[in-house]
Amino acid sequence: MTADQIKDNFDKIRLDIANAEKASGRESGSVILCAVSKFHPVQSVLAAMDAGHFLFGENRVQEAFSKFTEINTMRPGKAQLHIIGSLQLNKVKKSVEIASCIQSVDREDLLKEIEKHASKLNKTMDVFLEIHTGEDSKSGYKDESELMASLQNLSSGLYPHIRATGLMTMAPFCDDEKIVRKSFSSLRELREKVNKSFPNLPIKELSMGMSGDYKIAIEEGSTMVRIGTALFGEREYNKPNDGNQTTAIWN
Ligand SMILES: *Cc1c(COP(=O)(O)O)cnc(C)c1O
Repeated sequence: MTADQIKDNFDKIRLDIANAEKASGRESGSVILCAVSKFHPVQSVLAAMDAGHFLFGENRVQEAFSKFTEINTMRPGKAQLHIIGSLQLNKVKKSVEIASCIQSVDREDLLKEIEKHASKLNKTMDVFLEIHTGEDSKSGYKDESELMASLQNLSSGLYPHIRATGLMTMAPFCDDEKIVRKSFSSLRELREKVNKSFPNLPIKELSMGMSGDYKIAIEEGSTMVRIGTALFGEREYNKPNDGNQTTAIWN
């Protein structure tokens, strides 16, 4: 995709988001766009930056690390990166080095590991807790008591280098709007519950909505949409990668 096409896509998606905010009575600017650049080259990210966009999401740490190291060398201090894909413990160190936020925290082990590396770097990491709200996705907290235990630990100050600022989910990949909507509304309801039970945690963001369902997500209260395909085009999955050959659409 050319830089001009990418710029046009950003213009279009920004307008769509603004219209969706208006249509659902949301304040203008209340929805943040996270541009998912996974599988797309450095040039695509630079084109987005030329179009005035600076927040990106990547789900594979190895790819994100080499890409954004290069981008940060070319344009220091400009891009902001969120890790959005399910994470192995041995990828946490690089994630903490390259990203400002990990949106895909779905178990206590990850929190411990993030704290360890963030503390070494004397850095505070933002995290979103990923919640399993739909059948299709494998990732996300599934067990409410595990989630509550993690929130309790965050709330009691066990992880001083971690700031829990949001919840994230992926809706089931299906055409039934009711099912998709339910997944998003359940995340919103969970945030209310969490805010009540843990008022000292700054959990505010609802990261939900992708290229195919972001308008529904905005109607249901999303504060951050993660959009890849509608901005950068289809991904080419058969390129060489870090060994984690992917089959699923999410990966
Ligand atoms: C790839 C991915 C997206 C973006 O998906 P599109 O359908 O291309 O917009 C959003 N969230 C996560 C977690 C992803 O892995």
